[in-house]
Order: sequence, then C-alpha cells, then structure tokens
Amino acid sequence: MALGWTPISNKDNLIADMFRIALALEDPWKLTHIEYDDKDEAWHLFLDFERGSLFACPSCGASCKAYDAEKKDWRHLDFWNWKTYIHARVPRTDCTNCKKVTLVPVKWSRPMSHFTLQFDAWAMRLMAEMPVNAAARELREHDTCMWRIFHHYVNQAMEQLDLTAVKRIAVDETSSRRGHRYITLFVDVDTKIVLFATEGKSKDTLAKFKQHMISKGAEALQIQEICSDMSPAFI
Ligand SMILES: [Zn+2]
Repeated sequence: MALGWTPISNKDNLIADMFRIALALEDPWKLTHIEYDDKDEAWHLFLDFERGSLFACPSCGASCKAYDAEKKDWRHLDFWNWKTYIHARVPRTDCTNCKKVTLVPVKWSRPMSHFTLQFDAWAMRLMAEMPVNAAARELREHDTCMWRIFHHYVNQAMEQLDLTAVKRIAVDETSSRRGHRYITLFVDVDTKIVLFATEGKSKDTLAKFKQHMISKGAEALQIQEICSDMSPAFI
C-alpha cells in the first residue's frame, strides 16, 4: 500500500485549500493533513479542533471546553472518482451547568453514522433510480450499509407524513421479487403518496394499516372512498 502524506502548513498549498473550501469547514474545525492510498484509491482527510476551543453543550447550550475526544471516521463524496474519508477527533463536553457528558454533534453527519450527510444524499438519489444492491455496487459499499441509510430516511419521511387529511385510499398487492412474497400497498389517491406498505395480502394487512392510521392521528370518518380489487380479503 502506497501512502502519501501532505502536511498543511503552506498557505499556497492549493490542494489543501481546495479540500478545505469543498468541505465548507467552520471554526473551530481545521483540516490538519491529507493522506492518500493509491491501492485502495482513497483520500483521507484529517480534521481537528484547536486546543481550548469552545463548544455548545448539546443538552443546555452552555459554552464548554472539550474534556476529551473520540476518534471517528466518515465516508464522504468521492473526489476525482477516489473514495474520500474524513477522520476527526470529536469532542465530548463535560458541562458544568447541566452536569452532562455529551458527544458534540458534527455538522457534516448524523449521530452514529459512518457517512456524511452529503454521502447520504448521494446514496438516496441513486437508490431512487436503481435497486439498492446496484446502488451499493456503484458506491463501492456493502448493501447492508445502503439499507441502513435507506431505512433512516424512509422512516423519517413516514414519521413526518400527515395522514389527517387523507380521504381516498387505493389498496393493492404486488409480489416482491419472483416467487410469492406479497406486499400490500396503501396509496393516497389524491396525492399519489404511499401511506403504508406491509408484507402479505391477507385481511390482517388492513388491520395493520388501520392501526397505523390511528397511531398517526387519522380517524375512520375522514375516509370517504376505498378502492381495491375484488380479492375477498380486501372486501
Ligand atoms: Zn449542559
């Protein structure tokens, strides 16, 4: 493995500036150095914060110094078709105001994620256009990582979905892959949004949908029309 190393001390270091601008780093974060791995075709960007920097306590907002830090890594957008990884020591605050020890959130990633938000967005765009395993191949990642990103954003969108104005529903089943695994889909006829999807095609899929609607604050009386095929389970 050939590893290169570029110290960033020179103001005229154009490559370092380019990365710094592309990352839109804000104080107190600094790009300290860049490494590359030409066998793995990857850039490694190392970020750090200056000693004595202040961070807002994630719980109460009080200004705190870092009391220790945890090393973390994230996959970021590719650069010149090479994979790009960000490495940083993420500070933990030990707040004198609320007495909580908390890892400071970073702007470029969700908590607990190994990907940056921009990588997530890129992955989601690909997964909207192609099957998840094809997107995983394109991104050179394992498909279980892609599914984790996918589930996070789909769950988030489902949570934010307001079902209290739904009036007309269409129900239909479809088979997933070849074979006989069925999925029942519930769609809002007016907005064309999928409201709910669940495995199976029996009558308990309707019970699950009803439970979902109730848990989201919808009421039976608001539903004016339901459109389904003639399957006895749905009728
Ligand atoms: Zn606090």
